[in-house]
Amino acid sequence: MILNPIQFSQKLIFLISLMFCFNSANAQVQPSLGGSSRLMNNAMKEMENGNYEKANIFFRQIIDSNLPIPPEMPYYFAETLYELKQYDNSANFLNKYLELNGFKGDNYERAKALEELLNIPLNAIKACELCDRRGYRFQECFTCEGSKHLEQDCGYCKAKGIVGCSKCVGSGLITKRNVFNIIEYFECERCSGQGRLTCPTCEGSKLETSACRTCQGSGRLQSDKVCDHKDENPRHLSFLFNRMKSHH
Ligand SMILES: [Zn+2]
Ligand SMILES: [Zn+2]
Ligand SMILES: [Zn+2]
Ligand SMILES: [Zn+2]
Repeated sequence: MILNPIQFSQKLIFLISLMFCFNSANAQVQPSLGGSSRLMNNAMKEMENGNYEKANIFFRQIIDSNLPIPPEMPYYFAETLYELKQYDNSANFLNKYLELNGFKGDNYERAKALEELLNIPLNAIKACELCDRRGYRFQECFTCEGSKHLEQDCGYCKAKGIVGCSKCVGSGLITKRNVFNIIEYFECERCSGQGRLTCPTCEGSKLETSACRTCQGSGRLQSDKVCDHKDENPRHLSFLFNRMKSHH
């Protein structure tokens, strides 16, 4: 099963919460850590060699295995995620670690130092407009290509650009009875005798613009690419292109 980063971190938080419940309810019971401590040792070995991608895989196996989670695991996983630039995930695990172990954790000092280190990238994420609040780069919406709107045939006039005049029911003429009770015909004032009017919805363009449903009118979608907070195409240019697109 492949989980996207959001699902993955939700699952992790859920599992860690479970672990927390288990620990507090059964403080005296030492769960067997057999399988998970083997995975943990593998992960730590990879960390020592700087292979954080591989360490990440072992840590994820611990979580996916439903085996008891070793108490120091959230710290080491947080450190690995920091190295992989998954700062939001890293902060989640670090907070859980500190919450679960407090001062008693073997890595308390290192955890506090990592917390300090995390402030820099987390503040950069907050300040960046190119990524979501978790630090993942937004991608341009593939449906509207970032323009936020979609043009479609005007539904009101069925893309004719004109509608029948409602005052004269399309005849262009208005009838009135004079004092002799004789019907007189007048040119309809509203449509100047044309019987039809420019469509009030599309103003004759035959097109209707509506907010893009794929991106809910934001022009962008989430991705799982970690953001470097650098703008590839200068903002003013893409803005200009979008304006040109919507005016042609
Ligand atoms: Zn869109
Ligand atoms: Zn009319
Ligand atoms: Zn129309
Ligand atoms: Zn960013």
